[in-house]
Amino acid sequence: IAKNNGRNRFEFFTPAMQQMAQNRMRMIKELRVALSANQFRVFYQPIIDLNTGDIIKAEALIRWQHPERGLVTPAEFIPLAEETGLIVDIGNWVFRESARQLKHWGSLCDREFQISVNMSPIQFHSSDFVCKAWHTYLQELELPPHSFTIEITEGLLLDIDAAVTDKLVEFHDIGIQVAIDDFGTGYSSLSYLKRFDIDYLKIDQSFVRDLATDPDDMALSEAIIVMAHKLGLKVIAEGVETEAQQKLLFAAGCDYAQGYLYSRPIPAEALEQLLTAAAK
Ligand code: C2E
Ligand code: MG
Ligand code: MG
Ligand code: MG
Repeated sequence: IAKNNGRNRFEFFTPAMQQMAQNRMRMIKELRVALSANQFRVFYQPIIDLNTGDIIKAEALIRWQHPERGLVTPAEFIPLAEETGLIVDIGNWVFRESARQLKHWGSLCDREFQISVNMSPIQFHSSDFVCKAWHTYLQELELPPHSFTIEITEGLLLDIDAAVTDKLVEFHDIGIQVAIDDFGTGYSSLSYLKRFDIDYLKIDQSFVRDLATDPDDMALSEAIIVMAHKLGLKVIAEGVETEAQQKLLFAAGCDYAQGYLYSRPIPAEALEQLLTAAAK
């Protein structure tokens, strides 16, 4: 718009736009130092086995402990980390940090405990990102690869880039498990479920929210569960907040659940307390 009505090209930028651009630049600068300044935190949200009630896994969810702004949520900085490519280093850090935690927790529960980490498509597109480094790190810690799950979204599986598919295959060959996050919200061509080795589907919160009142959401959730089981996959329901939702999901045969009904994402020490209490 400004192009046509401005003789002076500085009219492009209204003060509000200038403010936004400046904030963005500052945020990028701050993001660049956040890793070395040790400002990131990993929170963990328990995933419950609906059959036993046990905490069997936890999802690692990053937070940014900003010196002035306090705890910043991923929605506020992951997009910028992706645009700048910083997500590759950040993602590696989340993996290592949660692997160290997992090693420590291994001694707390007699059952095998697992961690899942979220992966950005940018990590798959980056030539700097090598799965082998993760494998080596797991070997150093003597952790079985299947104790880790990567969460990816459907969009990544529609990508025909060979580098992307190679990395997915590599993860699978290493023995790291693969979950489809936010299942049902992407442009689903279901054929990818045939082409790739997937271990879990995570039913998106948007289907779980009105489960008790919306028959369509119930029908979709049931269909996802039946389909997943026929394909040999396990199902995790996201965003479970009420007993009613839990009951319906259990009746539909859902395997695992995650949501505020059980716990919000919490710091490592808080999860450790839950695990120790459960072990008694
Ligand atoms: P996600 O992977 O789908 O994670 C689930 C989100 O739902 C989390 O938000 C979690 O706090 C929230 N949640 C869990 N249970 C409930 C519930 O019962 N009700 C409601 N309303 N919300 C619930 P969070 O932690 O803000 O993370 C948002 C998104 O940021 C994640 O969505 C994921 O896509 C991304 N993200 C988080 N950590 C990382 C990371 O380390 N790397 C990358 N690439 N992305 C990450
Ligand atoms: Mg996730
Ligand atoms: Mg999700
Ligand atoms: Mg399979």
